[in-house]
Parts: sequence; structure tokens; C-alpha cells
Amino acid sequence: MKRSALNRRDFLKFGLTGLVATGATSLLLADNQKKGKETQKKPQTSSEPQPPGGRREGFIYRTLGRTGVVLPVVSMGVMNADNPELVRAALDSGLVHLDTANVYQRGRNEEMIGQVIKGRPRDSFFIATKVKEDERFMELLDISLKRLGLDYVDILYLHNLSKRDNVLKPENLEVMEKAKKSGKARFIGVSTHANEPEVIRAAVEAKIYDVVLTGYNFRKDYLKDLDAAIAEAAAAGVGIVAMKTMAGAFWDKQRTQPINTKAALKWALNNPNITTAIPGMTTFDQLKSNLEVVKDLKLTPEELYDLKLGEAQNLAGLYCQGCQRCVPQCSKALPIPEMMRAYMYAYGYKNLAAAHELVSSLNLPDNPCTGCEQCSVRCAFKFDVRNRLLDINRLKAVPEEFFA
Ligand code: SF4
Ligand code: SF4
Repeated sequence: MKRSALNRRDFLKFGLTGLVATGATSLLLADNQKKGKETQKKPQTSSEPQPPGGRREGFIYRTLGRTGVVLPVVSMGVMNADNPELVRAALDSGLVHLDTANVYQRGRNEEMIGQVIKGRPRDSFFIATKVKEDERFMELLDISLKRLGLDYVDILYLHNLSKRDNVLKPENLEVMEKAKKSGKARFIGVSTHANEPEVIRAAVEAKIYDVVLTGYNFRKDYLKDLDAAIAEAAAAGVGIVAMKTMAGAFWDKQRTQPINTKAALKWALNNPNITTAIPGMTTFDQLKSNLEVVKDLKLTPEELYDLKLGEAQNLAGLYCQGCQRCVPQCSKALPIPEMMRAYMYAYGYKNLAAAHELVSSLNLPDNPCTGCEQCSVRCAFKFDVRNRLLDINRLKAVPEEFFA
């Protein structure tokens, strides 16, 4: 197989055995290294850019677009974690990039990170946080910095955008540039879980953003367009960080059929345009598994099999694509993708606090579907939207203090 004939789909279609047989794996890795995007070998030269805290033996590193920052391909999504020892262990093991947000655990997530990084050299870790569009944006950023005990974050994302207009809104551009110029954010970006290709392209167009944090996983239904948008961003020097790589973590609400999350993470990172991924970690087992991935991205034939690539699109699972196709179909224009994301937080991640927070922020009536005799929504992924919506909306009735 000639290099020019090899693309990512070929890689997945062939599986590891086929690629090894054709020598394509080494060609793919050689190509990535040639682009300067990936480095693994020792010894290092003195001129080689160093990741925060220095290189670890065997780790695979990539460069985050024009920021020039070198990061391990695996980072830590801290959102669902509440154990500082786990975060400490991740840092001690060489994972340097911690991802949080102003709203996670109502601020306790940032506080916990602040506790863990206190006393560590500032150049030994890399912190990203997110703040939503808000008139008090700079004030909220200051609150985040205070909780983290930092003068600046490494990446500040404008949190959770799903439309081009919001990415390019003059007030948003102004406040993000202000945050960077003030020195409170080294780099700025946007995060997106829905309509990602549009958001990524708008971020490139805006020219001010250094990074995009995007949903990306093996279940993505519009993968071709998403891959193209990611490639365009990477070519323009915008660093790409992947989230939601675990695609909901389970195939079923009852959590009897786990997704092979190690395979799912490897799958995402086999796209060389993605610098690093931020899988959510809540257990030491997950950390251990992710530390294996940071050294080895090769998918075994068994792992490929587990991802059910051929049949996955016929399984509802817990992961909402954020494709928005359901929104115009709903007679009440309900925020279905957000409610389905809350459903995934509750049943996939067992993070009831995050689900409660999201559901409460949407402020829907107790029965949002009242008066609608037949649900007109046909989810592209066969979700029973009405049932899931009513199910997860029950969380709203639980007082906030139960999640504190
Ligand atoms: S609920 Fe279904 S149609 Fe709506 S955004 Fe999610 S995957 Fe797409
Ligand atoms: S049943 Fe609910 S989700 Fe379905 S169309 Fe009616 S309001 Fe929308």
C-alpha cells in the first residue's frame, strides 16, 4: 500500500494486523514524526521543545498547534473526579494537562485542583478551565483563578458553543482577547459538544483562538466533516483537544455493557491532528489504563472488534451526537441535545451532580412534553427522546444541597 493511499479509515478498516502486514503503521508514524507532531523516542536533544515537567520515558507527545506547547497525548478530564489523590497520582505519573471548568461541581472541582497543584512548580503542569458566555465573564475568570490559586490559566475556553455566530460574536471576541491581554490566560479557545464542524471552522475564521476543545469519538455520525474541520484547524495552527472520547462509557442505561474505553481513547488519538484527549477519570484503574494508552496507541484486533464499528450506528447507547437534528422536529423546541447530555452524565458517568446542574440550568417545566400527544422527534440515533427527557427532568426536583 502506498502512503498516498493510506488514510485513517484505511487504518481502522485494516486493523492492526493488516497494517503491520503492509508496513503502513510505520509509515503513518513516520509521517506524523516528519510533521513534527509526535515524538516518543529518547534521547532528546537540548533544542527539542519540552513538555511541562519534562519528558517521560515512552510517552507519546504532540504539539498543541501554534501555541508550541508539547503535551502527552493523554491528559486528564477532571470534571467527574472528586478525589485529590487521583489528580495527584495523574500529575506524579507524568500527565500534566488538567481540564476543568468554572461550573464543574459548582467550583469545588477547581478548588480541588488548586489544592493539588499548590506548591508544585508552575511550569510542571498545564491547566485549562472554561467560562460560559456571561456579562460577568472576567469576574467569573477571576473566581476560577482564585479557586485554582493561580495568576493565570494555560488555556481559557469559552465554554460550550454550538453555533458559528456565538464563536464570532464581537462581545465574545473582545472578552476573550481581553483575558489573554490581561495575562490571565496564556492561550484562548472555544469548547464544543454539538455542531462541532461549524464551531471549529468559525474558530479558525475568528483568528484569535489558539485551541478548540471538541467532542470526538468513534460513534460520531458526521465523522467525515468533523475530521475535515479538524484538519483545517490543524493546518491553520489551531491546537485540537478531544473530549467525549468514551462516547458515554456504556452502551446501556443499566451499565451492564461497558464500552471498551481504552480502545475508544486509542481510536480518537489515531487521528494525528488531535494533540491530546481529556478522558474523564474517577478511578485509579482508569488512570492506569490511560497511562498505557499514552505509550501505545496501536489498536489490537480485539479492541477494534469491541468498538463494534460496523454496527455501532444502529445502537442507541448513551452518547448524544449533538447533531441538533431533533431540535426543529420538536413542537416545543425543547433543548433536547442538552437534556440527552445530562442523561449521559447521569447514566453513563454516574455524575448526578453534573446532570442536575445541567438540567436545572435549562429551567424546563416539570413535564416539558405536556399537551404533546405524540412525539414527533426521530432521533438520528434512535433515542427514545420523550422517555429520556422525562426521565432525566425528574432530577430537577431534587434540592441542590443533595449534590453538595
Ligand atoms: S438527541 Fe439524537 S437527533 Fe438530537 S442531537 Fe442527540 S443524537 Fe442528534
Ligand atoms: S413529546 Fe416532548 S420532545 Fe417530543 S415533540 Fe413533544 S415536546 Fe418535543
